[in-house]
Amino acid sequence: MEMLVMATHNSGKLREFRRVLEPLGFEVKAVRDVVPGITEPEETGTTFAENALLKAEYYAQKTGLPVLADDSGLVVDALDGGPGVYSARYAGMPSDDEANNRKLVQELTGVPEEKRTARYMCVLVLVVPGCEPVVCEGTCEGLIHDEPAGNGGFGYDPYFYVPAKGKTMAAMSLDEKNEISHRGKALRHMAKRLQELAALSV
Ligand code: IMP
Repeated sequence: MEMLVMATHNSGKLREFRRVLEPLGFEVKAVRDVVPGITEPEETGTTFAENALLKAEYYAQKTGLPVLADDSGLVVDALDGGPGVYSARYAGMPSDDEANNRKLVQELTGVPEEKRTARYMCVLVLVVPGCEPVVCEGTCEGLIHDEPAGNGGFGYDPYFYVPAKGKTMAAMSLDEKNEISHRGKALRHMAKRLQELAALSV
């Protein structure tokens, strides 16, 4: 079985990665389970792609193993694209989903439904030491509601309503979310590339 080190400590992201990659024969490990106490790089990029590359390269260099990094976030049109790359730390550090959601709802006070358009974006970067990075992306369109609904998912999911499904991301099962989510889409592209790479190394 191929081991993949995930450049994240986010248990919500790990759950979604495992659900797609493990049935394909990949053993998904969080980086801190491979190197306990490993320090995190500073996310200094101004785009999701820059931050994903920075994380994947950092952990691949530290571990000498293939590393898959995700940088993702929420892009809200009425907030000029915010919180964007600052999604995790929107209400400050340390990252706090509840505080981020409170701030989001507050910033959108008085904004009518039709102007609450938003999308989740995800960039995945795979770095295999000695090889060119592989980059895959996914997006998912939605609307920001001012009341939460659902108990699943993580982050902004209780407020992220997907019109095509008639419910919030948090009201979906893991499989339903992966089917339509930014991360699920990026992951399916990446899974194809991973299988091609695995076939080459046989
Ligand atoms: P990152 O770990 O720096 O990529 O930050 C990602 C942040 O974006 C998370 O902490 C969440 O706030 C938000 N985010 C990304 N993907 C999702 C998702 O699938 N659901 C809810 N929030 C998400």
